[in-house]
Amino acid sequence: MYCPVCGKEVTEDAVFCPYCSASLREAKNFSRSRDEGPKSTAVAMILSIIFPGTGAFYIKNDVRGILVFVVCLVSALVGMLMFVVLPVLAVSLLIQAVLWVYGLMLTSKAIDDYRKEYPI
Ligand SMILES: [Zn+2]
Repeated sequence: MYCPVCGKEVTEDAVFCPYCSASLREAKNFSRSRDEGPKSTAVAMILSIIFPGTGAFYIKNDVRGILVFVVCLVSALVGMLMFVVLPVLAVSLLIQAVLWVYGLMLTSKAIDDYRKEYPI
């Protein structure tokens, strides 16, 4: 890493810069939070709009997001395969609509939690 004060290269475990003796602890914390970094909450929302629930998984590794996505996918497939049976198609669309909304709620909750961890 590099000293934020004088810009010279210093070892990763250094607490003080050997050149200008600036404290490097804050620089280290800064680079760490940047590494684990803010994921894009916009990407999470877009993901969740296109693939219900996946945004929650993207931002918080929330497994419920994947479940929502899988159930939604299965329901869509069943709806497509059995589209001639109108009640099945209707139920399939209803399930997808409900899961889509649920997925968005899950994602916006996950984004809230994420923002508490990594404030902008
Ligand atoms: Zn320095």
